[in-house]
Formats: sequence, structure tokens, C-alpha cells
Amino acid sequence: MEKIQMTTPLVELDGDEMTRILWRMIKEELLHPFIDLKTEYYDLGLTHRDETDDVVTKEAAQAIRKYGVGVKCATITPNPARVEEYHLKKMYLSPNGTLRAMLDGTVFRTPIIANGIEPCVRNWKKPITIARHAYGDVYKNAEIRVPGAGEAKLVFTAEDGTVTEQKIFDFDGPGVLQGIYNLDKSIESFARSCFAYALGVKQDLWFSAKDTISKTYDRAFKEIFEDIYAREYKSRFEEAGLTFFYTLIDDAVARIMKSEGGIVWACKNYDGDVFSDMLSSAFGSLAMMTSVLVSPDGCFEYEAAHGTVQRHYYKHLNGEKTSTNSVATIFAWTGALRKRGELNHLKDLVDFADKLEDAVIRTIESGTMTGDLVRITTLKDVHQVDSLGFIRAVRGELEAML
Ligand code: NAP
Ligand code: MG
Repeated sequence: MEKIQMTTPLVELDGDEMTRILWRMIKEELLHPFIDLKTEYYDLGLTHRDETDDVVTKEAAQAIRKYGVGVKCATITPNPARVEEYHLKKMYLSPNGTLRAMLDGTVFRTPIIANGIEPCVRNWKKPITIARHAYGDVYKNAEIRVPGAGEAKLVFTAEDGTVTEQKIFDFDGPGVLQGIYNLDKSIESFARSCFAYALGVKQDLWFSAKDTISKTYDRAFKEIFEDIYAREYKSRFEEAGLTFFYTLIDDAVARIMKSEGGIVWACKNYDGDVFSDMLSSAFGSLAMMTSVLVSPDGCFEYEAAHGTVQRHYYKHLNGEKTSTNSVATIFAWTGALRKRGELNHLKDLVDFADKLEDAVIRTIESGTMTGDLVRITTLKDVHQVDSLGFIRAVRGELEAML
């Protein structure tokens, strides 16, 4: 068989621990035999981040800006224990935080669905994607533990000295107080990323907040979404037969539970934090959740939603067999290859990505799976395999399909 050709490189961001081991297996077993793989490689493994004073992370982000599509392996976010373990020069920032800041993106998380890995909600037939705004609100708050009676005010002093003031509350005893903010620019990027993503996956978009209670703050979110929709996206949505609507967050939750899925649900930062974890566990497993960072100017960075699976890595280092699930990492590659194929009009590459995903699903549905799925599957005849065994089983399915 002739290998599939690529014209533009994918930006490849290697990572840490067990996922770094899976990364190599996936490339060797599932990609190199079939594709003349072109990548521009950045090693975000913690040791190399340390050697480059984390410059490599910034270079990788710039490369994604340049080429438009990246694929990332899970990476360690250093904490004090990691600083000691890896003898780091300093406690570097989270690579994902750095990439997000540089690409100004929104993160979309989507569960991978297979028969036998059933969602807790019976009527969910298609995946539900959460789009989480990852800037501001309670994550950038200022808080005061109010010690006793006193007056609380919200004060804004404009550059020209104009002061806007509003009474919050007259405390007659101890309590708590919090100030939060957001930026039009960030909300606009968020909205554009959501509209572009929904058009890309050809799914309806919901946006929810609580403007009946938060008549200025949440209302600004609602108005920015509706304004950008009307001016920039309405006609494209109509052409594609898609809908966008705003609804209250409590109404959205009630509707989601009754829906059959197949929608993109845009959430404010805190709502997205809560509901992405609810969706991933209700759909089955963190190891079956993909994640893509989309920038407002159309750059894409694909990854798995889970971390480096540290506990399995130490077993691997001890020479023990691991049964680590590579599905979300394989889907990070297929997502990136498909997007690269679409942008470069390489039908073979797009078809390959579809087939590889099919092969993964078929493997699971035939009862061959890793330990994490064996524990939750409703299938009767199951066969637990180790990390490499699963990838080889997928290769078998893929070869049969090609
Ligand atoms: P984790 O890697 O997400 O794993 C937590 C647990 O979930 C595992 O111990 C395992 O449970 C299960 N699990 C997750 N992914 C799995 C998979 N693919 N196959 C099978 N089981 C899976 O989180 P962590 O071990 O707490 O964190 C390790 C490192 O990952 C941290 O240093 C953190 O900074 C980093 N991290 C990176 C990212 C990212 O790069 N996007 C995201 C989150 C965390 P059992 O042990 O019960 O089998
Ligand atoms: Mg969370």
C-alpha cells in the first residue's frame, strides 16, 4: 500500500509519563505504517521544558499559530513534588495555560461514544460538546472575609478620574464579599470560537447564562453572543441548517437531560468547569474525552482531556504491564489529521482519520478494551488487553478496513 501524503506539517507537542509512552506506540503502530507523516516536533516533556526554560512551549504555540493545527500529548504541570522529582530550575506554569494564553482560545470537550460504554443518561445518543470560556469570572476574583458591620461598595475609577460607585450591602455582622470581572474582548473571542466550532462540526449551538438575575454582567455575555451571531454568523448557520439560541443555565441543564445530544453547549467559566466533569463522567470515562483548543482566528490544538496517568507510568517503569486507555490520545491525532486534511484538501488523509476512529470503536465494540473500560462496560464477552495490545488490536481492525 502506498503511504498517504501530507503537504503541511502538523505541529507535534510531545509530553510526559504514560501518555508519552502511548504517543510513541500510536505513531509506530497506527500512523507511520500508513501515512508519510510530516510533523514539526516540539518536546514538551518536563525535562526538555526545563532545559529550555520553557521557551519550547512558547515556540510550539507560535508554530501552531503559523501552521494552524497542532496535536498535543498530556504534560505534567509542575507542583512542588515535581520540582523535586525532576530537579527543576523553577515551578513552570501549566503548558496548557501558556498555550491557551498565547492562542487566546476556547476549549471544547467531547466524549467518544461506543456501544457497550453507555451514558448514565439513557436518551443521550450523540456526544455533547462543552465549550468552556476559560477566562475571568470567579477564577480571577478579589475576595474579602468581612469581619463585622460596615458598608460594602463597588467602585470603578476610569482613567480620566471619573468614579462610578454602587452600594453592595450594609453588613450588620461578619460575612463574605467578592468582586469579579470579564472583558468584552475575551467574551467576543469566546463567542466567535463557539460559532466557528459549531459550524465546523455541523451541530446546533446553545449558550446559557443567568441574565434574569445578573442583569448587567451575564446580560453582557448574552448580548455579545447575540450581536456577533446576527452580524457575522446568522446567514452561515441558516445555510447549514443549524440553530443558535441563548437560554437560562437552569433551562439548559433541564433540556440537556432530555435531549439526545449532538449539540455544542457554550458555558461561562464556572458553569463549564462543573458541567464538563458532569458530562465526562456521565458519558463513561475521562479516558474517552477529547479536547480541542480553538482560537478565534482559526488555529486548532487537539489533545486528550486526561493527564499523564502517573500511577500507570510508575508501574510501567517497574516493568509491570499496564492497561492504559489510548483512545482519547488516538482521537487527538485523528482530530488533528482530519483538520489538516480538510485545510489542505487531502481527502485521503480525512478518510484515514475517519477509518482510524472507526477501527478504535470497532475494537471496543468487539469486546477488546483496556482495564478502565472493562470495569464499566455493559458488554458480556470482554477481553482485557494491555496498553500495546489495545493499539495492536486497533491496527488489526484498521488493516482489515484498508
Ligand atoms: P490523570 O493522568 O488524568 O489520571 C488520573 C487517574 O484517572 C489515573 O490514575 C487513572 O485511574 C485514570 N485515568 C486517566 N486517564 C486514563 C487512561 N488514559 N487510561 C486509564 N486510566 C486513566 O491525572 P493524574 O494522574 O492525577 O495527573 C498526572 C499528571 O497529569 C499531573 O502531573 C498533571 O499535572 C497532569 N495533567 C495534565 C493534563 C494535560 O496535559 N492536559 C491534564 C490533567 C492533568 P487509575 O489509577 O485508577 O487506573
Ligand atoms: Mg474541574
